[in-house]
Amino acid sequence: MSMYLVIRCPGCRTFTYVDSFQRWKLCHVCGEAIDVNRVPVYLDVNDHRDAETVVNQLQAYLQQAGKRDLSAEELEKLRIDYANWVRSRL
Ligand SMILES: [Zn+2]
Repeated sequence: MSMYLVIRCPGCRTFTYVDSFQRWKLCHVCGEAIDVNRVPVYLDVNDHRDAETVVNQLQAYLQQAGKRDLSAEELEKLRIDYANWVRSRL
């Protein structure tokens, strides 16, 4: 059961997250009103602490790799890694 969605601001490309029922989010960096239905969802997560962890990891990963976005393979790996991480905590 997923409660939060990890998304990215289309304006400034900062990662953030929303409650899965939330339709809009104001970007805390650039002030853009993000339409949740119109941006790609990187990951569904179970709680806001997981969302914060993933947001920080994604930001750091792309910065370190000097990339603008995840490839399809990296996105797939992110989802698998998250599923394994959740399972490891049960
Ligand atoms: Zn922004």
